[in-house]
Amino acid sequence: MSPRSRPEAVAPHSSSSLAARSLASVWHPCTQMKRHEADPPVAIVRAEGPWLHGEDGRRYLDGISSWWVNLFGHGHPHIRAGVAAQLERLDHVMLAGFTHEPVVQLSERLARLTGLGHAFYGSDGASATEIALKMSAHYWRNRGLPGKNRFVGLAGGYHGETVGALGVTDIALFRSAYAPLVRLSATVASPDARAARPGEDARGAALRAAQALDAWLAEHHASTAALILEPLVQCAAGMAMHDAEYLRQARALCDRYQVHLVADEIAVGFGRTGSLFAHQQAGIRPDFLCLSKGLTGGTLALSAVLTTDEVYGAFYDDDVARGFLHSHSYTGNPLACSAALATLDLLEQPGLLQRNAHLAQAIDTACAALTGHARVRHARRQGMIWAWDVDTALPDFSRRYHRHAMARGLLLRPIGNTIYAMPPYVLDVQAVQHLADGALAALEATLAEEAGTAAPAEERLP
Ligand SMILES: *Cc1c(COP(=O)(O)O)cnc(C)c1O
Repeated sequence: MSPRSRPEAVAPHSSSSLAARSLASVWHPCTQMKRHEADPPVAIVRAEGPWLHGEDGRRYLDGISSWWVNLFGHGHPHIRAGVAAQLERLDHVMLAGFTHEPVVQLSERLARLTGLGHAFYGSDGASATEIALKMSAHYWRNRGLPGKNRFVGLAGGYHGETVGALGVTDIALFRSAYAPLVRLSATVASPDARAARPGEDARGAALRAAQALDAWLAEHHASTAALILEPLVQCAAGMAMHDAEYLRQARALCDRYQVHLVADEIAVGFGRTGSLFAHQQAGIRPDFLCLSKGLTGGTLALSAVLTTDEVYGAFYDDDVARGFLHSHSYTGNPLACSAALATLDLLEQPGLLQRNAHLAQAIDTACAALTGHARVRHARRQGMIWAWDVDTALPDFSRRYHRHAMARGLLLRPIGNTIYAMPPYVLDVQAVQHLADGALAALEATLAEEAGTAAPAEERLP
């Protein structure tokens, strides 16, 4: 029976349900599949705006923009129209030796928005990380400094899960099983504002972390190609937020020690932190900027690494081996680029960031009870990212909370004991209230369960 001809409401455990067929054939990401014996995956049959519609006939508010990608909700008519029009003209052509309108336009527009004039494309965030790291090390090699081929990142940093990206991803759960495969990079202290000492503010914590970076670079700059960081919010670390001063300090230190600064804005780019790009709040420019996730508004897989004329120039030569030798089959795919162009249209609408700021205030107000909850610590927000740490002894808080939120028609997946929301920019008044009420009710329900539960190992899946 085709999925389309099946009746709408099917019990989740019935063997013909999408969930059951999925468990028999699909290996789901970031998942211990055995867990699905108790909690089957939720089959989604369509989505519109911030709402996901389940096969079970229920709807769920997408409070985390489907892993941080759907900036303007699902099925946005402008993005849909852009992709459909492109599909009529040109679906795909290889980008080696060929070019096309969408990739040229996208590169020109990204250059205008960032001041970084050369765009290299990949298909996902992890490949963008790989591209930036390879480009940085190859730059130094081309400049006669092949010994500069190591990297440094921040404690708790996340830059993707392919083998190269894992080298700069400091999240033990993702890394430990693959440790023998990974060339581990150094990590320096995170500027996380929560680490501020008594009497110290967020800026003080940032300055202290910058001193640690200074000390590290002073010793290791000769072997270091680049510092990679997530500007303003380390999302996968549990929405660890820091003062923009750290970015100014990091830029100055990278200049002083001749080390590239790679800004990984895969999660925080495109208005998420309140400015178009997060690093702009520090008034700095990175040497490399990694973009993905929101780049296509959550419609198609695409990533980009933007860089300077200076870096580009170091590869420009008669010698093939001095060129940047990296490719993916779908590099610069026209459909994905057209989705990105339509997304940029939406981002560049006059007043978009201002409207988001108003929406954020409305969400702040609606979430006041959660923010003031006796068991919540470090309630914080940066732009359109909210986080609340929960004082709980439950090692599986995240899973329990997620289940309670879903039961209330709300998709939220805490990281460890940090509840966070990263909603699409298109919530109406009812959706805001639904998010706030559901988030609070799920917390109460989870805390009510807390007494007398057995304790499996801690989990921190995003
Ligand atoms: C998600 C993410 C990545 C990896 O992107 P994928 O598309 O999942 O490979 C890299 N860096 C940051 C900051 C991310 O949030």
